[in-house]
Amino acid sequence: MNLTLSIIYLISTVTFTFGLKFLGHPETAKKGNLISGIGMVLAIIGTLVFHDIENVPTINYILIGAALLVGTILGWIMAMKVAMTKMPELVSLFNGFGGGSALLIGIVEFGNNVGVEESEKVSAAILATILSAIVIGSITFTGSLVAWAKLDGSMKDLRLPKYNLINNILFVALIAFSAYIVMMDTDSMVLVYTLLIVSLIYGYLFVAPIGGADMPVVISLLNSLTGIAAAITGILYGNMVMIVGGILVGSAGFILTFVMCTAMNRSLGSVIFGAFGGGSDALAGPTGKVAGTIKKTTASDAAVMMNYANKVVIVPGYGLAVAQAQHVIHELEELLTKKGVDVSYAIHPVAGRMPGHMNVLLAESNVDYGKLIEMDDINPQFTNTDVVLVVGANDVVNPAAHNDPSSPIYGMPILDVENAKHIIVNKRSMNAGYAGIENELFFNQKTSMLFGDAKEALTKLVAELKNM
Ligand code: NDP
Repeated sequence: MNLTLSIIYLISTVTFTFGLKFLGHPETAKKGNLISGIGMVLAIIGTLVFHDIENVPTINYILIGAALLVGTILGWIMAMKVAMTKMPELVSLFNGFGGGSALLIGIVEFGNNVGVEESEKVSAAILATILSAIVIGSITFTGSLVAWAKLDGSMKDLRLPKYNLINNILFVALIAFSAYIVMMDTDSMVLVYTLLIVSLIYGYLFVAPIGGADMPVVISLLNSLTGIAAAITGILYGNMVMIVGGILVGSAGFILTFVMCTAMNRSLGSVIFGAFGGGSDALAGPTGKVAGTIKKTTASDAAVMMNYANKVVIVPGYGLAVAQAQHVIHELEELLTKKGVDVSYAIHPVAGRMPGHMNVLLAESNVDYGKLIEMDDINPQFTNTDVVLVVGANDVVNPAAHNDPSSPIYGMPILDVENAKHIIVNKRSMNAGYAGIENELFFNQKTSMLFGDAKEALTKLVAELKNM
């Protein structure tokens, strides 16, 4: 590799690292994204201009240019058009594309090895790397597409009988089959296409049964797999930027997976080997176990309650993002603070539909970051809280996680809002949240339901408070 390209790759690698560092905080995240993006553009241009491509006789700049153009235009349109609430779906789709490219690279590289002289064949280590790209890339591809469809609501959880057993047998079969191809040193395309199909099926079956509140863990894991797949293809081409970029994404995703596992009270073993959602009996869906009467409230009653409170905690959830009510909730918070009320936000690690969703959403409306309190820190404070205002959150405040062993969210730590003196819940109806289960909190004697779209309800609440 020539010196200029090495220097360009070094610069790109540094931009990725700094970019990732900046992505760690909502205030610097935009800058981080831009810095990493510039690094990626540098790496692509550098590769095209300076790479030692005379060894590749079929290089076709017109095809590469066309692919770059189509990809850039499509990526631009998708990113510009996507609604904030659809961001998690888009991220899943992009994860899938990463996996898809790794599997295609694997297939091409395996094909390059077919029918060549014995002396020119790749080593067993490289063959194993090629197969890993195919297997991991395929699992990430179909797994991410399923995740995308489930987040989009167009696919329901699929529970085959004994799905854990089937999945684990397939997993072992994939490893054994790959090892067989490496040991036999075969160049049979039929075997590799079989491996590809089984991997695609495994990716589908791996994510299809996952429901309840376990999606955040699997999304982080798929994220990590995309990075690993990119790093593997980097090894195949001896390309430092691909290796470093892939490792950064892979390890960041892996750390996030552990964070999500802790947040969901799951072990990584249960993530990989499929004991999601507390087992196959834990099908989501209204159980009919929760009954009782609910107490409705109005914006003016809720405003009175909050006006005379000393301490108010706001619990934002997915519905806040759907309603795009982040600006009006900030207005409410500022209004209450001016009236001398101590206001903070309780942030559950899986609230919303992507890791950090609530932090990003509230940062958009310039909520002071110091007011966002993580679950472990806010939970002990609920006993001293006069009013909790739950806005568009459901699963993350569902006591079934503590007291119903048959619930798909059983064992997941939740925000213990029940301990507060009064609870106001804003949502549009009695519909379930993502896990599809009923919530006994809504029937709690301390709970008042403020029905309506979050933006409309909060706007009325703000107007009432302004008149007091
Ligand atoms: P939930 O999905 O549990 O509940 C959201 C609630 O918001 C619904 O019950 C809905 O009720 C209400 N809602 C929807 N639109 C509006 C609106 N316009 N105005 C007012 N309310 C509205 O959200 P949570 O944040 O509590 O929990 C997140 C869930 O998503 C967890 O189960 C988590 O595991 C899962 N998940 C999280 C991911 C992550 O990384 N954070 C990724 C994938 C899944 P109604 O229709 O009656 O209004």
